[in-house]
Amino acid sequence: MPFSIVACAYLMLQFDWADQWSKSIHASLPYLMSALLVLVSLIFNRSRLALGAINACLAYAFIQNGMQKPFSESSTQLLFIGNAILFSWHLCLTGLYRERGSISRWGVSRLLVIILSYLILWVLVRDSNLDALHLAIESYITTQDQQRTWLSLGLLLSQLGSGIVLLALTLWKRTSTETALLAAWLTGNAIFYDFAVADISTVLFSALLLALFVSLIQSAYDLAFVDALTLLPGRRALDEKMGTLTKHYAIAMIDIDHFKKFNDTYGHDTGDQVLRLVASKIRKVGVGGLAYRYGGEEFAILFPNKNLDLVEPYLNKLRESISRYQMTLRNQERTRNKKIGEKLRGVVTARERNVNITVSIGVAQKQETHHSADDVIQDADKALYIAKGTGRNTVVIAT
Ligand code: GH3
Ligand code: MG
Ligand code: MG
Repeated sequence: MPFSIVACAYLMLQFDWADQWSKSIHASLPYLMSALLVLVSLIFNRSRLALGAINACLAYAFIQNGMQKPFSESSTQLLFIGNAILFSWHLCLTGLYRERGSISRWGVSRLLVIILSYLILWVLVRDSNLDALHLAIESYITTQDQQRTWLSLGLLLSQLGSGIVLLALTLWKRTSTETALLAAWLTGNAIFYDFAVADISTVLFSALLLALFVSLIQSAYDLAFVDALTLLPGRRALDEKMGTLTKHYAIAMIDIDHFKKFNDTYGHDTGDQVLRLVASKIRKVGVGGLAYRYGGEEFAILFPNKNLDLVEPYLNKLRESISRYQMTLRNQERTRNKKIGEKLRGVVTARERNVNITVSIGVAQKQETHHSADDVIQDADKALYIAKGTGRNTVVIAT
């Protein structure tokens, strides 16, 4: 990859392309960034970001090549509205898709849908019969303010619809990709809203693609450092953090008690739910404790600049709050009858069971005798082992 980039730059110089390109670099920046983003997304198997980049690239091409004419022309107006609607709803659809890697039949079909829709718009607007369509929808697309075509009723409703769906998706899924798509939606609509400002599309489409790039880097980081089940940082993130630790810190190791038995009794999916629940409690331990999923049903909490006396009460509070938490497990065959369902709601029935789990905790603090953070973890592990041996559901301090 680095070699091919350098080779491309060298070739551009050889054929005098660089000179031509630098003269028009300003307007071609969004194209270049889209191409780069698609390439990098394909490498990272992030098909949705690649689709977002192609969508942005096509919308930008339409603005550059079809909309530099006065708005009084019906074709410019229709192209503007069609472009704004396609751009926003494609972002929305991309947010709804599940990530399935890049070069697959699925990815190609989604790509074709995007390209075809813009192509149809282009063919329609070039068609001289379009006057009839323009006349039919005129009342929905005209505004008092010629500069603010965005504010026409039809477009406003459509953009609001796609914006609300994307916002809901972002709040629901909470991944960096949806956030980036929402940012792209906002940027795109800022362009359509303030369309009369000189160079707005070039500057803001470049910014939009940069935002997608940042999201790609963020999602690559998450993949390596964040545990997908609990959304806590994983072992690799802990290793990295340990390299930056100062002289003064404590580490707690937490292990769920009899978790194998729990899985065998209630199933692996219920076990996963318990891991999420425990993770959410550990995350809120307080006193600046940083939670990590160490692996399997083991967690670690790092307390930078804290000593054992300070953290022990918080760990005991955490242990207690987990053991007191009553989980209601429902049998798979929950009633489909609404009336019966309503009667049963709120009462623990024969089909429901209350269960609770406990955790054992071992904690150690950095001593002069420790050479590295690994030594501190080892001591915390030994304390955890003692906690398991002394009946579990307890906190043991390393001596
Ligand atoms: P102890 O009290 O001594 O810690 O007993 P334990 O059964 O918890 O310990 P053991 O190490 O024997 O079992 C750990 C279990 O955790 C085994 C494995 O099935 C379960 N486990 C590990 N990772 C996951 C996971 O991601 N999801 C689920 N559901 N279970 C997991
Ligand atoms: Mg274990
Ligand atoms: Mg265990």
